[in-house]
Amino acid sequence: MSYFRPEIDAMEGYVPGEQPSMPNLIKLNTNENPYPPSPRVKAVLMGFDPARLRRYPKPAADALRIEIAKLHGVNCENVIVGNGSDDILTMVFRAFTAPNLPLACLYPTYSLYFELAKMQGASVIRVGLNPNDFSLPGDLLEQVASANLLIITRPNAPTGNSFNRDLVYNICREFKGIVFIDEAYADFADDNCMDFATQFENVIVSRSFSKSYALAGLRLGYAVGHPVLINGLFKLKDSYNLDMLTQEIGLVAFTDHAYHADRCREVRETRAVIDAELRKLGFHVVPSQANFLFASPPDENGENCFRSLRERAIIVRYFPGEVTGRYVRITLGTPSEMNQLLATLRLIYGK
Ligand SMILES: *Cc1c(COP(=O)(O)O)cnc(C)c1O
Repeated sequence: MSYFRPEIDAMEGYVPGEQPSMPNLIKLNTNENPYPPSPRVKAVLMGFDPARLRRYPKPAADALRIEIAKLHGVNCENVIVGNGSDDILTMVFRAFTAPNLPLACLYPTYSLYFELAKMQGASVIRVGLNPNDFSLPGDLLEQVASANLLIITRPNAPTGNSFNRDLVYNICREFKGIVFIDEAYADFADDNCMDFATQFENVIVSRSFSKSYALAGLRLGYAVGHPVLINGLFKLKDSYNLDMLTQEIGLVAFTDHAYHADRCREVRETRAVIDAELRKLGFHVVPSQANFLFASPPDENGENCFRSLRERAIIVRYFPGEVTGRYVRITLGTPSEMNQLLATLRLIYGK
């Protein structure tokens, strides 16, 4: 017998990528940014008076939401912030999924969605991506017709590819429920769907500070959508979901646009180089719009690649499964980390 709700007993729980503390490790497994955040972050930390912490933070993080709204050309009432975009996802699942309100999402994709659905007792319609190139299936709209919430992860994780913008536009227009576009990696991509959040009354677009802003340790994310949707989400957010330091650090990092753009450009340059080098080694590489590459080694044995790299102190991510098991997901690191990765792969695959 258990004290828990049956839904909770049935959950495995989300397993985050490991955060090992071994020294000299090359850590390429959780899509963190290889560069530090904006130098303005340090100035805020150094200048912060701890006495201020006896007060509660601003519940709606207005100063930060105003800047986010400004960047995207929307109003403050279109924006909600969260303790990481995972917090936004939690609110969205509580709002739009239930035992009689199914979720639809892609497969493979970010595995947290499946755990959040289980918490709600919501069933999940898995839309299998085409196995050859991880593109959207042609009959997606028919498959998801009974769902109340559809999540499109663009660029997708762990595959790294994006989806045709016109296709996604059409999905937003035709789908009867909420379309949530998870844009955790959009800052590394050629385009994004942020404007759909204002064109449609049923579309929410989310962003994260964890990847492109190099602030995974801070926990900050946000979503943009119609004021009716954002209002509803406000009802079920924790009153003080963003602490005072996160609000202030987030604000200075977010408004350092030049620094952000430079770091994103560097990651994209690294992506082009490593994509080409992996192909020379006989890897099959999924064209990436994110800060990682989903690549299949010459023997199509992702697990062996993961283990061989791990023995040599390089950690990438491996996802067991019929399709995903042929690949490893490699976060793009600094050029020097990438050179060590390539040298190690040349040893393993004998080139
Ligand atoms: C990393 C990631 C998130 C979570 O981001 P946080 O802001 O760190 O919570 C959400 N969605 C996808 C697809 C991600 O890869």
